[in-house]
Amino acid sequence: MRSTQHVVVVGGGISGLATAYRLLHAAVDDAPRVTLLEAGPRLGGKIATATVAGLPVDTGPDSLLVRMPAVRTLLDELGLADQVEGPSPAGAYVWTRGALRPLPPASLFGVPEKLLPLLTSGLVTPLGLLRAGADIVLPRRELPADPTIAELLRYRLGDQVFDRLVDPMLGGVHAGRADRLSARSAVPEVMSLLEGARSVYLTMRRREKKPANGPALVSLPGGMSRLLDALVAACADADLRTGSAVTSIRRDDDGRYDVTLDDGSVLSADDVIITTPAYTAATLLADLAPTAALALASIEYVDVATVMLSYRKDQVRRSLDRTGFLVPPVDGRFLVGCSWLTSKWGHLAHDTRVVIRAMVGRDGDRRWLAMTDDEMVSAIHTELVSAIGAADAPSEVHVQRWPAAMPQYTVGHADRLATIDSALTAIPGIHLTGAAYRGVGLAGCISQAARTATAVLDRHDSTTHDDPFVTAR
Ligand SMILES: Cc1cc2nc3c(=O)[nH]c(=O)nc-3n(C[C@H](O)[C@H](O)[C@H](O)COP(=O)(O)OP(=O)(O)OC[C@H]3O[C@@H](n4cnc5c(N)ncnc54)[C@H](O)[C@@H]3O)c2cc1C
Repeated sequence: MRSTQHVVVVGGGISGLATAYRLLHAAVDDAPRVTLLEAGPRLGGKIATATVAGLPVDTGPDSLLVRMPAVRTLLDELGLADQVEGPSPAGAYVWTRGALRPLPPASLFGVPEKLLPLLTSGLVTPLGLLRAGADIVLPRRELPADPTIAELLRYRLGDQVFDRLVDPMLGGVHAGRADRLSARSAVPEVMSLLEGARSVYLTMRRREKKPANGPALVSLPGGMSRLLDALVAACADADLRTGSAVTSIRRDDDGRYDVTLDDGSVLSADDVIITTPAYTAATLLADLAPTAALALASIEYVDVATVMLSYRKDQVRRSLDRTGFLVPPVDGRFLVGCSWLTSKWGHLAHDTRVVIRAMVGRDGDRRWLAMTDDEMVSAIHTELVSAIGAADAPSEVHVQRWPAAMPQYTVGHADRLATIDSALTAIPGIHLTGAAYRGVGLAGCISQAARTATAVLDRHDSTTHDDPFVTAR
């Protein structure tokens, strides 16, 4: 029998909300009581939708990977599955070697399957292509136990393909550097495909390809805040509180937890699920689990910003005929990438305007942090003048700063997680879930949330079932 369990969820981003949702909708006789505490004035964390040129545009995540079963299930249950929309199939460009060059199709996280299109597009020189082709004959090279993405791929593909294709794609998702990110943790699909293989190119060609069942990445007309709104509505049975920062967590003599809020009030919980960024989790666990706290504090974060710029169509000379462009770090530009929102998503098409979502900031490039909003817009506009022939200054802009936003799965990430997991076994009832651990995107957060909710429910079931006196008490 399940006595009513009180679960406190710390943080109201996608991880907190998706975990709360799974707890409330679990197939159990007696669902737990859930209190969700969010420090900020609104729920959603990194999910945020703004209005630019009258269009609802996402300033945080704007695309959701629907390949993962937990994501499909959630969309189904929230009634959103038939409302998602894939991007234009036109593909993107890479802005490199002085021009926008079509990104070749059919690549896995930037690892190319065909080499010739790289030459036709001008992405690499003939010499760069020859060097990439050498992958077929180059001998195997011993890799460290936890190789970086660069150690896994640069030697095989050569500098040009690596710097101009793989690095911007792989590093782009994490805003990280391929020579610091762990291949095993940041790109597990690529790592498991290539581990033990010799030729990258031949392995890519021989890999089993599942037939595509719709687009892998989707957006929601109206913005990702619709996912948020649907989750919040489905969590009506929870006590969802904003403006409630958790300042400390202590264990009482009965093994329950006292969760203290910034207004001094204290909640007693059987389970506490921490979904804040890892650096905040480190502070909250400093006394309870110092070893876990140290490992959490060593998960690095990168500062990024998204800037929306709206131009009249006739102010942009180049036709925005694809979905946008990525910029390789090696080109040293301010821009990390751009989505041409009004071309990329059908629901954002506009008769007279284009809206561009520019991303700046990555590991090793913190220039934007020292800039005012106006300076940032001006630096981006200057690059857009070169890239797409933007003429006059944009007529509408929106700047969203995301300091310390992107967790980095650098070398040693799996070891850090193992340290954290083992330290947490000493404090049953404390759980960690979120972008810092096993999946940096929304889909990773949703999948982890489902697993965390199951662990919380199982723990309570086993404590009640394992204790023969529980029903007699
Ligand atoms: C610019 C940008 C673009 C992105 N694009 C994509 C994309 O297109 N697709 C994709 O899948 N992913 C994308 N991501 C990643 C995605 O947004 C994140 O993985 C995800 O939103 C993280 O959710 P979370 O709930 O784990 O963390 P968060 O959203 O950071 O939520 C954590 C919450 O905890 C709260 N909190 C912190 N401290 C406390 C405290 N002491 N007490 C109570 N609450 C606290 C915070 O206020 C916050 O609301 C993007 C991220 C950024 C920054």
